[in-house]
Amino acid sequence: MVNTDIREARQRWWEFLLSLSLNERGVDRVKKALSNQYDLLPHPQESFWVPWEWGRKKDLICVSVGGQEDPLDLYVHEASHAKWTWRSEECRKLLHRWGVLFNLAEDIRIEYLALSEWGWVFQSWTFPEVPSPPPSQEDDLFLWGLYVSKVSASTGRDIPEEWRDILQPVWEKLRRAYGELILVKTEEEMDAWLRKYLPHLPAMPPSLSQLLGDVSPFNNDWERKEEEGRRFLKELSSEVGSEERGEWFTSSATVTPSPALLSLLARLAGEGVERVNSLWGRYNPRRDMRGREDCFRISRTTPSPEVVFIVDTSGSMEGIAEGVRELLWGINTLSKKSTLKGKVIFVSGGRALPVSLPTKLPIERVAFNGGTNGYKNALPHIPQDALVVFLSDLLIDSSDRDVIRSLGVRAYFLYGGREVSFVEKEARELGLPRQSCFFAPNVREALERLLKALGL
Ligand SMILES: [Zn+2]
Repeated sequence: MVNTDIREARQRWWEFLLSLSLNERGVDRVKKALSNQYDLLPHPQESFWVPWEWGRKKDLICVSVGGQEDPLDLYVHEASHAKWTWRSEECRKLLHRWGVLFNLAEDIRIEYLALSEWGWVFQSWTFPEVPSPPPSQEDDLFLWGLYVSKVSASTGRDIPEEWRDILQPVWEKLRRAYGELILVKTEEEMDAWLRKYLPHLPAMPPSLSQLLGDVSPFNNDWERKEEEGRRFLKELSSEVGSEERGEWFTSSATVTPSPALLSLLARLAGEGVERVNSLWGRYNPRRDMRGREDCFRISRTTPSPEVVFIVDTSGSMEGIAEGVRELLWGINTLSKKSTLKGKVIFVSGGRALPVSLPTKLPIERVAFNGGTNGYKNALPHIPQDALVVFLSDLLIDSSDRDVIRSLGVRAYFLYGGREVSFVEKEARELGLPRQSCFFAPNVREALERLLKALGL
């Protein structure tokens, strides 16, 4: 675990969860196909699947966020095991008898199914380097050939020239074996295939064995790994370090306290929030991850009146900095009187900084000098039933536009400045609902319009 860059791993994990909830690359088909509920955990190095039959309440899918591969690919691979690898005593026997050889064959079979049934192309798989010295034994060649064939089939890329040359002696056998393997339907057929093509139970070439990982499901090793995953998840979810927070609030600008603004904010935080909640759907990412259709549910209970302010701190926001700083001052002041609950999430330059309210940080001194991206990282910090107020001129990096769209169903967009017509045009291009947009010549007026629309 020591070698994992926590900041990078954190980013990859949240981006992965976001990709799942946005159904990127058609992952919704995968989620819907998994009828069993499963726990999802990050792991610093390893991806694996543990069926509930091995003594858990649910399946477990662990996804490595420390390697080169796309966590979404790793997730779909393990999900394919959950869907198609047999949950039977016969299968355990196969694993016991054939070990990593069974794993290799089964990986080929399930990835073929992922491609043919779900249309999943494993984009991040790469061809292995030709080992030196190159394999010369026929059995070794054949095993390498199976692995190389898998990468080719799962990614849709041609087998590299140097591998084609080396594999020439076993080429025909490979084609035949591969064709038969992807048609295997039962444990018995798998056993027959293994007996036919790997009859001498050859030792796996060490370098290939390394590539495939070890298969040792019988020593309860996964319990230790699960524990590692839980610890790692905690680490990834922990707050950002204090030095890192300081960087955001370096402006020397001062704010003139405004009682009028405070009373506007008090209306937002106070009575009437109950009515507000029926206006937006409650998005439940957990349900979504499990492929549930009812992941957008209209709340019938009284939700907590928590407000999340997302503040765009990219350079272009400097034009309306004064109004935004005034608002931040008001938010923090009010939260200290405990009438306003929630947080502010600052976003720019690929990063998101969540700050829970009230805070001792001088949030009104935020500097506007970052890039126009980072919203992906903000999303995981937004509680499901919070009222989301988004302060931005909507100049958003194209990589984050899907996030803004997904926020569109449950957020209110505020802009107060001179570029109202430009921001309106941006909002149209983003496809934001008109009734969620409140743009005015200054921030206070934008807030007033929001309150009016909410009937507060
Ligand atoms: Zn596998």
